[in-house]
Amino acid sequence: MASKEIPYKIYLEEDEMPKAWYNLRADMKVKPAPLLNPQTHEPATLDMLSQVFCRELAEQELNVTDPYIEIPEEIRSFYKMYRPSPLVRAYCLEKKLGTPAKIYYKFEGNNTSGSHKLNSAIAQAYYAKKQGLKGVTTETGAGQWGTALSMACSYFDLDCRVFMVKVSYEQKPFRREVMRTYGASVTPSPSETTEIGRKILAEHPGTGGSLGCAVSEATEAALTHEGYRYVLGSVLNQVLLHQTVIGLETQTALKKYGIKPDVLIGCAGGGSNLGGLISPFVGEKLRGEADYKFIAVEPASCPSLTRGKYAYDYADTGRICPLAKMYTLGADYIPAPNHAGGLRYHGMNTVLSELHDQGILDAVSYKQTEVFAAAEQFARIEGILPAPESSHAIKAAIDEALRCKESGEEKTIVFGLTGTGYFDLAGYAKYNDGALENYIPTDEELEASFAKLPKLD
Ligand SMILES: *Cc1c(COP(=O)(O)O)cnc(C)c1O
Repeated sequence: MASKEIPYKIYLEEDEMPKAWYNLRADMKVKPAPLLNPQTHEPATLDMLSQVFCRELAEQELNVTDPYIEIPEEIRSFYKMYRPSPLVRAYCLEKKLGTPAKIYYKFEGNNTSGSHKLNSAIAQAYYAKKQGLKGVTTETGAGQWGTALSMACSYFDLDCRVFMVKVSYEQKPFRREVMRTYGASVTPSPSETTEIGRKILAEHPGTGGSLGCAVSEATEAALTHEGYRYVLGSVLNQVLLHQTVIGLETQTALKKYGIKPDVLIGCAGGGSNLGGLISPFVGEKLRGEADYKFIAVEPASCPSLTRGKYAYDYADTGRICPLAKMYTLGADYIPAPNHAGGLRYHGMNTVLSELHDQGILDAVSYKQTEVFAAAEQFARIEGILPAPESSHAIKAAIDEALRCKESGEEKTIVFGLTGTGYFDLAGYAKYNDGALENYIPTDEELEASFAKLPKLD
């Protein structure tokens, strides 16, 4: 096997696709801190979570013991329509960079939603349908999650109500139309349709919104409508769990050709694609079977892992969701607008936060101009126009490959290419015009936000 010539694209057979998701928490000796009830500060219970989330998803959220959770047959057959996704050897990029490093990327943009988010959307819609719900509510930042969820809901014939962060709603009208085509209703957030939306608008008139506000509006809409639940496309452990289909496929594909990665890289918004990609490999590391380096890449404008505090915080501005111990910039932190809308969440998944705290997961941040420069370089040589979010991982992979060029190391680098950038052309236009700005929060701004973290004693 090992001597086989490695193709540009490694595809798996359908029967090599995973039949169960991998739950990394089962293999963690020190587990992430429990979620807490936002009012009582007691550990969140299944009953409490089931009021907001679908029952089986709430179970997955709390499951820290089962290493494998079976993927239901209906979800597996949906996956087969657009998966397995290719693991591509970036031969052209390697040559262009003149690096001895070998670079692979797992490409998740091969579906209409244009990103990895469909992997969890279809699972969440499935459990909502199974529970007999009428529909689901959600937020979307850049629009990828809303698009993925609207596709999943139309497949299972569920109503889908999307609160879209207002800046994205205005910047990305085409995303909105894709969602509407799939039958979803799309409301710019903050909106007048919820109590929390009206309150935020009164306090911050003219705000472009944030993921935190949109989450709050969507949770309120779910709690006030019979037969609805709230679903979320990132941050939660259930989402990270569904996204392990990325890492499991990657692991099988690499093994098939006898390839051992040295470095695994992913962009990190709420952490689901990164967690999904690295989980099986972190599992190997925790069980002492192999060693890898893991890198989370975030925007300098929203640097939760690199500059945030590891503390309990609210997951949403409206303080309805459970409290989570995570790297956070503060639930009220509204990051400056940037073109990687999917990376604008104030916190980070609890598993990844704990791994970062234990020194297993490294983190770096980049400014958006350097990210777009990497995106341009990649697009011109590898033939894929990447999403700005994904381009954070590209930038880190290129930097790692250039370090190998200097040191002569032949490292194998694997990164997650989470999506395509066709709906991000406003960002590319600004970059091409030289009009892209870098926003980096000052220490004072962050300190002011940390001062508002909840105090739990
Ligand atoms: C949403 C999104 C991300 C970030 O979300 P994670 O939960 O951190 O994975 C990254 N890339 C793309 C293309 C996205 O749509």
